[in-house]
Amino acid sequence: MYTLRGVLLPGETTVSLHVDDRGYLVDEPVAGSEVLVDGGWIVPGLVDAHCHVGLGPAGPVDLEEADAQARVDREIIRAGRHLARPKRYIPGLAVETDEVELLPDLVAEQAAAGDGWVKLVGDWIDRGAGDLAPLWPDDVLRAAIDAAHAAGARVTAHVFGTDALPGLIDAGIDCIEHGTGLTDDLIARMAERGTALVPTLINVETFPGIADSAAKYPVYADHMRALHAGAHDVVRRATEAGVPVYAGTDAGGGIAHGRIADEIRALAAAGHPAPLGAASWAARSWLGRPAPHPGVLADLVVYRSDPRTDLAVLDHPALILLRGRLVAA
Ligand SMILES: [Zn+2]
Repeated sequence: MYTLRGVLLPGETTVSLHVDDRGYLVDEPVAGSEVLVDGGWIVPGLVDAHCHVGLGPAGPVDLEEADAQARVDREIIRAGRHLARPKRYIPGLAVETDEVELLPDLVAEQAAAGDGWVKLVGDWIDRGAGDLAPLWPDDVLRAAIDAAHAAGARVTAHVFGTDALPGLIDAGIDCIEHGTGLTDDLIARMAERGTALVPTLINVETFPGIADSAAKYPVYADHMRALHAGAHDVVRRATEAGVPVYAGTDAGGGIAHGRIADEIRALAAAGHPAPLGAASWAARSWLGRPAPHPGVLADLVVYRSDPRTDLAVLDHPALILLRGRLVAA
């Protein structure tokens, strides 16, 4: 039983939040409740919209390691496994098929295996062509995304370059991951459709290293360097055009789990007008998670100064409540 007093973002007013013994927010203080904080900034629980529990720098990890990663990332909304073609993604991670017409059926399977999301690999290096190239024909993408929507799932896709984007966006995809190849025309189409973008800027920082290790493919390497150079500009243009842009780290792989504060700061540096909301209230609403109000479990992070203006404080939460329970800050 707890009481928290502070400014509840994104509002501007000081409120008192009361948590009962089951962890639910309630209207009235509970007898004997402990005042956990008096005068902080209260933020609806943070969201990392792109991370991979079960993956580490060397690929799939054992269950114990995955369990530790899940504790860092806490409450998880899962897509099923990635869908890709052979030799067109990191080996061993995706469900792969070279019979592209099977994609709608595979999407339906993964929709049933996840929590309302399906993840496609939209582009990857085509070693024959020596550059990034789309994996799927446009008509297959339309059928696949229709199949996901019919199953009640939303679809997102890994896309670095430009060529795979028109087919995915016009097929009605719900979100683009990375999106470093977005042009103004494609950004306008996303804004019109309400397609979201999760740019994973701290992962895009690894692009020059990817380019360095791909010297055999100079066109691809140059392409990756150019995409890296333009990544912040894409985020700025997308937010200006009204594309919903959310925070995701791409943890699992080259990026350690739990770096959402770094991604919030990267979005701020790129000119995102509301980077904290992109990792909290806005992302929660997009993912169907409730705002804090009586009757919902208390899922809150508290800071001693205003995290919208003091981005450094994001590394030092005063306390975290997860489903009404205190977890180590
Ligand atoms: Zn990823």
